[in-house]
Amino acid sequence: MLRIECPYCGPRDHDEFRYGGDASVVRPTHDDADFEAWYRYVFVRENPAGPHREYWQHVMGCRQWLVVGRDTRNHEIAAVRSAREPRA
Ligand SMILES: [Zn+2]
Repeated sequence: MLRIECPYCGPRDHDEFRYGGDASVVRPTHDDADFEAWYRYVFVRENPAGPHREYWQHVMGCRQWLVVGRDTRNHEIAAVRSAREPRA
């Protein structure tokens, strides 16, 4: 069972959360006309074996979006922060 330490609610089972995708993807600027940049933003994702930053929403709790640093090999969570905080 994966446990996620919500900064607002404390540790909770992952069943209370919804996976929201890769948090390392950077959205192109609104006026960026580069088709390749938008294609990569919408469709292309890495599938790393190791540390990965992911969006999770606490849908059964505070409903806040979180950025979770999780190792995809063993599901060990290294860090959790609010998605409202600026990127490091
Ligand atoms: Zn929460």
